[in-house]
Amino acid sequence: MQEKHYEVVIVGGGISGGALAYTLAQYTDIKSIAIIEKYEGLATLNTKGTANSQTIHCGDIETNYTIDKAKKVKRAADMIAKYCKKHDYIGKFIFEGQKMAIGVGDSEVAFIKDRYEVFKELYPYLEFYDKDKLKQIEPKVIFDSNGNPRPEDVAGLGVQSGAYTTIDFGAMTNTLVENAQKTKGKICDLYLNSEVQNITKVGDKFYIRTANKISVSADFVVVDAGAHSLWLAHKMGYGKNLSAICIAGSFYLTKQKLLNGKVYMVQNPKLPFAALHGDPDLLADGCTRFGPTALTMPKLERYKGCRSVPEFFQSLNFTPKVAKVFWNNFGDSDVRNFLMRNIAFEAPVLGKKLFVKNAKKIIPSIREEDIYYAKGFGGVRAQIIDQDKLELLLGEARIDDNNGVIFNMTPSPGATSCFGNAERDAISICSFLGKKFDAEKFENELVK
Ligand SMILES: Cc1cc2nc3c(=O)[nH]c(=O)nc-3n(C[C@H](O)[C@H](O)[C@H](O)COP(=O)(O)OP(=O)(O)OC[C@H]3O[C@@H](n4cnc5c(N)ncnc54)[C@H](O)[C@@H]3O)c2cc1C
Repeated sequence: MQEKHYEVVIVGGGISGGALAYTLAQYTDIKSIAIIEKYEGLATLNTKGTANSQTIHCGDIETNYTIDKAKKVKRAADMIAKYCKKHDYIGKFIFEGQKMAIGVGDSEVAFIKDRYEVFKELYPYLEFYDKDKLKQIEPKVIFDSNGNPRPEDVAGLGVQSGAYTTIDFGAMTNTLVENAQKTKGKICDLYLNSEVQNITKVGDKFYIRTANKISVSADFVVVDAGAHSLWLAHKMGYGKNLSAICIAGSFYLTKQKLLNGKVYMVQNPKLPFAALHGDPDLLADGCTRFGPTALTMPKLERYKGCRSVPEFFQSLNFTPKVAKVFWNNFGDSDVRNFLMRNIAFEAPVLGKKLFVKNAKKIIPSIREEDIYYAKGFGGVRAQIIDQDKLELLLGEARIDDNNGVIFNMTPSPGATSCFGNAERDAISICSFLGKKFDAEKFENELVK
């Protein structure tokens, strides 16, 4: 087969790869781009609508974000809404709705009150809800099965309307690639069923070897392969100081619509994972979806058998330093109990019994017979360990040694930050290749 050469090759057809292809096609003078994806379609792993929580994390109700992290994610989250407005996707796969974070009991209520005072400057639309207001706008959060208000104090902060809260990131990915392909004067080829096995640099050129033996080379490669990015980096000799552990997230669904909007809870600061939340599921008729759980798993992807188990162990790159980070993060008995509980949530009968106890913190009247395990839902968050800093990184990670190749590792909120990451990568690519990034057009169309 004759070799095809591109200025930029993107490995991975999830939302990160899609947003980068769109950004390069629309806002740079790069003319030839290819996306190489190992499965039969775009967004079949973590970006798929049923794999994640469908939340545009803009930082207002995420109680684990500091104000600085909130500012950063807000800018990227706003770009998603701008993109969807520009292309008339509102109401198609992105929706407005009610959302809130609630505190239950005196100390969490005090936390919500303090947070509201700090965050209302950055998010002027934020409202504070006391227990009486919550009775009206999200009654299931307050009343028990006898119709009596729960005994503890409850407060919330959030917004009732006017904010884009919910999105099918998988559907958005398809539009990103379609729009990149429609851009005048640009080539954006998509190779499906093409698993990248190795990337070799010879001189200034990268040669990409795939399982189905397509012949592709590039001046620049961006690996947007989600949980697999670090595995490919290690194969190329990059990121040897990094390790990945995989935390899968599962969900339970209710048989009816119970909540009017998204209800998040205050995160336990000891736990390195987001607290359970409940919200109407776009792809399950608006029935309430609870989750995600936090299940440690020796695989890079779910629902595909055991084929990614060896890749998991290669990415884990286990050393005494990794053991130390494990001990520092998971040695605490509260964290260990949390992880054990999350393993138990997967058990066929016991899992539901245990899970419903946790869900009662959001909906006190919920019963075992109201929920069922959402089979086939959920994905994997690859959390990165930095062995040099002896640190478990809770957000995204990136390797860019200014050598013509970038690797992005994208646990939550990686889908929300897809345009922020694409902008940053487009700037690096253009600077390396001597191309132009049209920052003004990008600002005007996606930021202002
Ligand atoms: C339970 C859960 C809930 C979440 N909730 C949210 C949320 O509400 N909001 C939010 O913003 N984020 C959320 N996230 C995070 C979000 O889903 C991810 O950050 C995002 O989907 C990452 O997109 P990606 O394109 O980087 O990776 P992926 O979607 O994983 O895509 C990677 C792509 O690369 C392909 N690939 C892998 N290896 C190769 C290879 N060797 N060759 C070719 N192709 C390859 C894969 O097939 C895949 O298509 C959640 C994640 C989980 C697991």
